[in-house]
Amino acid sequence: MIDCDVVVVGGGPAGCSAGVFTARYGLDTVVFDCGRSSLKQCAYLENYLGFPAGVDVDTLYALMHDHAEESGCEFVTDLVESVVRADDGEGFLVTTQEGRERTADYVVAATRYDGEYLRPLGGDAMFDVHEHGGEEHEHFARDYADSGGTTPVDGLYVASPSAETDRQAIVAAGRGARVSLAVVGAVRREQGFPDEFVDHYDWVRRETQRDDEWADRDRWREWFAERLPADHDLDEDRLAELREREIDRRLDTYVTESEVSTRAERGQRRLLTHLDDDLVLERAREIRDEDTAGE
Ligand SMILES: Cc1cc2nc3c(=O)[nH]c(=O)nc-3n(C[C@H](O)[C@H](O)[C@H](O)COP(=O)(O)OP(=O)(O)OC[C@H]3O[C@@H](n4cnc5c(N)ncnc54)[C@H](O)[C@@H]3O)c2cc1C
Repeated sequence: MIDCDVVVVGGGPAGCSAGVFTARYGLDTVVFDCGRSSLKQCAYLENYLGFPAGVDVDTLYALMHDHAEESGCEFVTDLVESVVRADDGEGFLVTTQEGRERTADYVVAATRYDGEYLRPLGGDAMFDVHEHGGEEHEHFARDYADSGGTTPVDGLYVASPSAETDRQAIVAAGRGARVSLAVVGAVRREQGFPDEFVDHYDWVRRETQRDDEWADRDRWREWFAERLPADHDLDEDRLAELREREIDRRLDTYVTESEVSTRAERGQRRLLTHLDDDLVLERAREIRDEDTAGE
């Protein structure tokens, strides 16, 4: 019996971003985070979009972890030492330094500096050998996974290291998202969705921008039927189950204007909890003084 759907190894930009997308899709996601971190070596981040005067690494780290937890991820502070195939050949067994064992259907590696724990799955083919100072060093091959994170090992995805994306934090975060959407696609394919329905968009839309016809389940059933390939191999019950689940999901993406306002206020309040209390109070006093001066 598998413990969780997805284990993400690494809770930096790539891993947290991956966790947000798998957990928001409803996949049980465990993020292990411990050990050598690239992000924690940055003195200060000035190029992570959304922070005009930059952001200190501790604050960004706390925001990323809070976001992934809010999305449903479970965080475990422990170093992953090995990932092997589970006994029955299905899924993976993840073992940590402190002796924890978790099984998962999918593993997303998101550790810019580490990859040794994956060796049992792919052996030497996963590593490049470099010579430095007269000695040979091995590094996880940055091109072992393709640009979507897929590897030759079924169910194993690599968000980081990656030749294309691990050198800047925001690019690593983007790759984490991309790779986890590939995992979601694989899950949907496994669930039986035909290719036409495999791609997943994690969008939230305004109900006011929806044409009335799309509030009607039957309109969505027509839409589903129009896209369904003639040669699908689903039996009637399974087809109906997948169709209704997909319609539920699509209808759930629409929110009312009042819900948009509620979420916006909640989002701002949550951001405040990550700011320095003294600075928040200082700014509050300035606002009060400005208001008083304007009266
Ligand atoms: C000195 C320095 C300065 C930098 N400055 C900038 C900058 O200004 N702007 C910028 O965009 N980028 C900068 N970078 C690059 C940036 O840090 C990386 O692009 C980014 O952090 C990569 O994210 P990641 O999630 O792939 O890896 P990481 O940030 O390394 O995150 C990996 C996480 O996995 C954990 N981990 C590792 N091994 C294991 C394991 N076996 N089990 C469990 N957990 C594990 C680590 O603890 C870490 O939290 C800098 C890097 C360095 C070294």
